[in-house]
Amino acid sequence: MDLEIAGKVALVTAASKGLGRASAQALSEEGAKVVICARGEDALNEAAAAMPGEVHTLAADVTQSQVPQQLVDAAVERFGGLDILVANSGGPPPGRALEVDDESVRAAVEANLLTSVRLVRGAVPHMRAGGWGRICLITSSSVKQPIPILALSNTARTGLWAWAKTAAADLLPDGITLNLACPGLHATDRMRQLGGLGDGVHGDPGDFGRVVAFLCSGPARFVSGAALQVDGAATLGLL
Ligand code: NAP
Repeated sequence: MDLEIAGKVALVTAASKGLGRASAQALSEEGAKVVICARGEDALNEAAAAMPGEVHTLAADVTQSQVPQQLVDAAVERFGGLDILVANSGGPPPGRALEVDDESVRAAVEANLLTSVRLVRGAVPHMRAGGWGRICLITSSSVKQPIPILALSNTARTGLWAWAKTAAADLLPDGITLNLACPGLHATDRMRQLGGLGDGVHGDPGDFGRVVAFLCSGPARFVSGAALQVDGAATLGLL
C-alpha cells in the first residue's frame, strides 16, 4: 500500500524518545521531511541521526505558549510548507483525583490540552493553503477509560478529545483530518518510570509509530474525528 506520505512535510513534537520518536521515525521511513523537537538536545540529535530522510531538529519546550507557532514557522521556513502534524508532549505526574491541587491541574491542561490546540491552530493555515492535511494527537487510552492513578492525564486529555472532536468536522471540507492515537501500555522510558510495564503484554513503540503514520496517510482521508485505541484490547468501554 502506498501511504502517499513521500515528500510531505511533518512536524512531530516531543519526539526524541518513546512514542513521539517512533511516529517521526515511521513518517521518515515513508519519505516525509520531518521536524522534531524535545528539550534535551543530545537525545534529539541521536533520534534525528537514526531517521533515513531529511530531519530538522529544534531543542524546545513545546508547552511554552509561543513554541508551537515557532515550530510551525520553522517547518515552513525549512521545508516550504506543513502537511502533517503529530502533536505530543510529556505526560503529567501521577496523582489520584482528590489529591491534585489547582496548580497541577493547570499545568496538565497547559501541557496536554492547550499545547495541542496551539499546534493545530498554527498548522491549519498551511494545510488549508495546500488543500491537504493530517493531524494526529497522541493522547492516552484514558480518554475512553480513566486510569485511577492518573487523574491529571485523564482530565486534560478528555478535554482535548472533546475539542478535537469538535474541530474535526470543521476541518474535513478542507481536506484535513484530525484524529487521536490513544496508546495503552507501551515499553517507553515514561512507562518504565511509572513502573507500569509489569509482566503483562505491552506494545512496541515502533508499531505505534506505524499506526500513526497510517492515520497520517492519503488512504486514511475519510478517517477523521476518531480516537483510535492502540492498547491491545485493554480498554473495556464499548464506545
Ligand atoms: P517518553 O518515553 O518519556 O518520551 C517523552 C518524549 O517527549 C521525550 O522525547 C521527551 O524529551 C519529550 N518531551 C517531554 N516533555 C517535553 C516538552 N515539554 N517539550 C518538548 N518535548 C518534551 O514518553 P512516552 O511514553 O513516549 O509518552 C508520550 C506521551 O504518550 C505522553 O504524553 C504519555 O503520557 C502518553 N502515553 C504513553 C503511554 C505509554 O505506554 N508509553 C501510554 C499512554 C499515554 P525531553 O525530556 O528531552 O524534552
